[in-house]
Amino acid sequence: MSIIPGLEAFAAPTPSAPRRGPSPEELLDGLNEPQRAAVVHEGAPLLVVAGAGSGKTRVLTRRIAWLISQRGAHPGSILAITFTNKAAAEMKERVAELVGGRAKIMWVSTFHSACVRILRKEVDKLGYKSNFTIYDAQDQKRLMTLVCHDLDLDPKRYQPQQVLNWVSDQKNELRDPDDAAKDAKNGVEETYAKAYSLYQRRLAQANAFDFDDLIMVTVHLLREFPEVRETWRRRFRHVLVDEYQDTNHAQYALVAELCADNPENLDGERVPGAELMVVGDADQSIYAFRGANIRNILDFEQDFPNAGSILLEQNYRSTQTILSAANTVIDNNKGRKPKRLWSDAGDGEKIVGYVADDEHDEARFVSDEIDRLVDGGGLASEVAVFYRTNAQSRVFEEIFIRTGQPYKVVGGVRFYERREVRDALAYLRALANPDDQVSLRRIINTPKRGIGDRAIAAINLLAERESITFWTALTRASEAPGLATRSFTQIKAFVDMMEELQSMVAGGERADVILESVLDRSGYLAELESSEDPQDASRVDNLAELVAVAREFADNPLAAPSADPLDEEDGDTEPPAGTLDDFLERVALVADSDQIPEDGDGVVTLMTLHTAKGLEFPVVFLTGLEDGVFPHSRTLGDTQELEEERRLAYVGITRARERLYISRAVVRSAWGAPMHNPASRFIDELPVDLIDWKRTAPEQTSWNRQSQWGDRAERGGAFAGFNAPTAAGRRAFSSAALKADTAKRAKTSGEIPSLEPGDRVTHQIFGLGTVVTVEGVAEKSVASIDFGSEGVKRLLLRYAPVEKL
Ligand code: ATP
Ligand code: MG
Repeated sequence: MSIIPGLEAFAAPTPSAPRRGPSPEELLDGLNEPQRAAVVHEGAPLLVVAGAGSGKTRVLTRRIAWLISQRGAHPGSILAITFTNKAAAEMKERVAELVGGRAKIMWVSTFHSACVRILRKEVDKLGYKSNFTIYDAQDQKRLMTLVCHDLDLDPKRYQPQQVLNWVSDQKNELRDPDDAAKDAKNGVEETYAKAYSLYQRRLAQANAFDFDDLIMVTVHLLREFPEVRETWRRRFRHVLVDEYQDTNHAQYALVAELCADNPENLDGERVPGAELMVVGDADQSIYAFRGANIRNILDFEQDFPNAGSILLEQNYRSTQTILSAANTVIDNNKGRKPKRLWSDAGDGEKIVGYVADDEHDEARFVSDEIDRLVDGGGLASEVAVFYRTNAQSRVFEEIFIRTGQPYKVVGGVRFYERREVRDALAYLRALANPDDQVSLRRIINTPKRGIGDRAIAAINLLAERESITFWTALTRASEAPGLATRSFTQIKAFVDMMEELQSMVAGGERADVILESVLDRSGYLAELESSEDPQDASRVDNLAELVAVAREFADNPLAAPSADPLDEEDGDTEPPAGTLDDFLERVALVADSDQIPEDGDGVVTLMTLHTAKGLEFPVVFLTGLEDGVFPHSRTLGDTQELEEERRLAYVGITRARERLYISRAVVRSAWGAPMHNPASRFIDELPVDLIDWKRTAPEQTSWNRQSQWGDRAERGGAFAGFNAPTAAGRRAFSSAALKADTAKRAKTSGEIPSLEPGDRVTHQIFGLGTVVTVEGVAEKSVASIDFGSEGVKRLLLRYAPVEKL
């Protein structure tokens, strides 16, 4: 598996051999004619449009190497946009093999990371401090909930998430609150615009940006401050963008600010635009719901006058069978430019199809096939399992755990969304930026230290009365009206602790050292360690993992952004050793696909189709091909949305190099009820003669499927004592670890989950359930749990593989 295509050709120089620049022939080796033309192109903006697997990313990588080694470009003058931090890191590493340490100052990053770096340097011009916090989805929601509450909005009519989606659309279109208010079409939008306005003010007070702000604010900055724009135009002489079809308007505008030579603005002062190359495939545009605009690619030649374009038609990734399948499916989209991808890799294997009785049967099929592949000498790491939505991963996880097949879920309930991880990060963020109210409020009484709602209200009053920040008010708590003496003492202790920790930050202490001090000094770790709740043990593990992440970050200079690229003349200076700010920035910008396992880890990769963009695997399972699942039920009535789903199918199919499996389940439980979904229309769109159906119709009636459920439960019983994989993310499980865990069987009293009626749980076999009653205590406690279609089960908690959610 090659995550970053196009790099294999560059062998790393042996450490002892003196580095010699590659010759032009070497740089162009393994490229076809149009690919070479794109690599060596000079001057006008260039669009490389091509179908999947035609070497777009390879061209982009080679071009960077070409620019540096053949055209004398300074690595610091290159800005390359990729969609994942992982892709960026690998690209940089390989360019480093080519040109040495100078590669480090090259900017290869996502749009978001690039904007953060620009903002850290320039944002003081907008009245922000450079230590701003980046709010993620959960922070945004908290803040918007506060805003809606303060505006007295009816929570039934105005759900924070809905308002946020609307605000996000505005930002992607570069509309600030004033624009939004002006353009509001009705009362609801007027209210949204009001919420947007207050939300932005609160963000500013907290010295924070949300994700969409990063791009919008950078564009505004470049537009409002011509001298800033010229500085950055002078710096970036080459801009390269991968996956251009998924850029939204704000991202497009950013590229244009850096690259476009609009004659109207050319007033002599203006630095000529950077050389631009974008690569993309309109058929793979899958982010319209995040504002991606396919027009950006279709209109490229209009947007950038005198632009050239290059078409790549040979696919080097997949067999002809896989390609033909992809071509016929995407042909069903209207109004696209037809293109014919071809491959000379030969027809290869037929696509293998399987119709399962239910989702468990489907997972079993996938698992059995993987076993067969591995028995036949294949590697589990060559296999990827794709599905439409995150929740579908669970059945695959269950079977992989049972069979001891190591796996990794990419995305899903992410490590960084876990409560304890977020608490720890909130501490760090509050230390790095005391104005960050959302973080500060999250931790002020976590762990419980007797600073209750009334005390916080008193502090709030003081902050409002004196027009000071929440943090400053805490430091002046003695002036807070009506604050109880006890609360004052607690607040004082909290402030003392925070100030001590802040002094470590100010001293430039490493992120991992600060994190450990936080966990220790705050009492957070001690509380978890002394807890009886088994969940807390895995929380401790997760925090250990976070410390390890911080340590690794502080140790690994390549992963860290370089200190001050503008001032660096010579690329051989080491980047900083992972300060707290760098670490927080890194964490805030983690992308799902950054968690993709390394080659050779022997693990099967599970991910949603969206995350699979740009990747390739020898073997791909495309699962859940049912109308209502994929295409998603929400899209069934809407031609445009259906077309986007079809593009997603095209992305999925074209990830496969050698073998493609497609499967669907006749019955699938959703929200606890069985659903009978018809076959996906995308299956009907595949050429019949390319598919070898292993099973077409379920053999069993619903009557004997019942007995099958029983059978499954029984088999599951053998694993009754197995603990669910919560600790430290859902990483690979070795079969040895599995056996050891299974041997433990019964839990000790400390591990028995304490459940109450109404709690949501997940069970290894029965899936999600809701606790109805609990009887008995400790070792004897028995819970009745409603597992929806699986019925209500009475379980002795000491043995049952249940986990509280
Ligand atoms: P996607 O649209 O999925 O992002 P892409 O157009 O970026 O695909 P790449 O990922 O760059 O395509 O290339 C696909 C595969 O083909 C990679 O394994 C790459 O190494 C290989 N490849 C690209 N060009 C050539 C070539 N000229 N000769 C041999 N192999 C090639
Ligand atoms: Mg690519």
